[in-house]
Amino acid sequence: MNAAPAESLTTTAANPTRWVIVGQLLDAKNRRVLSNAHLLYDQQQILHAGETPPPADLLAGRTIPDATLPDYTALPGLIEGHSHIFLDGDELNVDKRAAYQKQDAETLYQQAAQRLRALARLGIIAMRDGGDKDQVGLRLSKLTANGSGPAGAAQVFSPGAGIHRQGRYGAFFGRALENYPDIESCVQACVEEGADHIKIVPTGIINFAKGQVVAKPQFSAEEIRQFKTAARARGRQLMAHASGDLGVGHAIDGGVDTVEHGFFITADQLKNMRDYGVAWVPTFTPVQEQVDHADLMGWTGETLDNLKKILANHAHSLRQALTLGINILVGSDAGSCGVSHGLGLLREMELLENAGMPTLTILSQVTYGNRHLLPGQPPYGSVEKGFKPRLIFTRHNPLATVRNLYHEHLVLFDGKIL
Ligand SMILES: [Zn+2]
Repeated sequence: MNAAPAESLTTTAANPTRWVIVGQLLDAKNRRVLSNAHLLYDQQQILHAGETPPPADLLAGRTIPDATLPDYTALPGLIEGHSHIFLDGDELNVDKRAAYQKQDAETLYQQAAQRLRALARLGIIAMRDGGDKDQVGLRLSKLTANGSGPAGAAQVFSPGAGIHRQGRYGAFFGRALENYPDIESCVQACVEEGADHIKIVPTGIINFAKGQVVAKPQFSAEEIRQFKTAARARGRQLMAHASGDLGVGHAIDGGVDTVEHGFFITADQLKNMRDYGVAWVPTFTPVQEQVDHADLMGWTGETLDNLKKILANHAHSLRQALTLGINILVGSDAGSCGVSHGLGLLREMELLENAGMPTLTILSQVTYGNRHLLPGQPPYGSVEKGFKPRLIFTRHNPLATVRNLYHEHLVLFDGKIL
């Protein structure tokens, strides 16, 4: 008989390597599931993963695995594709949200730092931030750089402040372009501050009462192209907040790496996305939260209908994007109203699944796919030799439905169960 799984999965001084057989192993890189797969790892790395047993020279004479878990699935730790670690997504009250954001930078930092361990315990091992203006993300990025931060803490990748047009949407998490002589020096300043990627805000947000993006775009396609050129010259990806067909069009034509949100995207724009190799992070959750808490938000009648229509159209666009083979990545916009850090990502996965994205695709994209958003492509997000042992083990089959990740699961983080 096996010892309790958590015990037999944890590396110790007496057992510096662990050899485990699991019923299913997600090979996110190749979007397939291995059956009765072997895993061998130590604290630093995965030494072997596959349907064949580890080679004898790695087993040092051992013939029996530490654990045989036929009813378990192992998968890479999840990567949150879009969140704002400085914000408290649980807070729904507008006044309390505003008061929270008025706290000093140090307090915001301390509260955000505490979230990193909570994320890892849920199985979220890294996150790409959408920006803050108080250096919270940048400090956490430095703290967790190279995956060597506090034990059991998710790694943070931050753009620093998002870049918006003076007087337009984005001031609460960003900085105006007008603070710089030109786009090139703006990007250079972000990089010097430690930005892992560049975040721009080419549009405002959806006016729910009107059911559309009312304000005109903040940046032209040509300006966005300049951001892209400057970012690429410095080895940084360009992440663009964009909703409304006009602004989304500018972002795609400007050649951004990822369109975030992308509400009201058109069929032609999806084709351009495919042709230009632009990835999409659809972030269903913040809008769905508005519907789920319509009472609290004061949405009734026409506004609520608008919200539902927007979500239905977004789901339709998602299915078109899947058919076109667009790279759809998974980010929840955690930190925005009603979107919790951690559970928000699971909710986003659930909404993608409800909208028609295949479960295997979602699980592969939230791990190996999202890894491509991170500079240097860190050695996690896949269960393969040489990668870090940051994995989820669960007996609630996530390949049946991503909702099964809401159930309890074990998180292996550098050889220890959290
Ligand atoms: Zn965001």
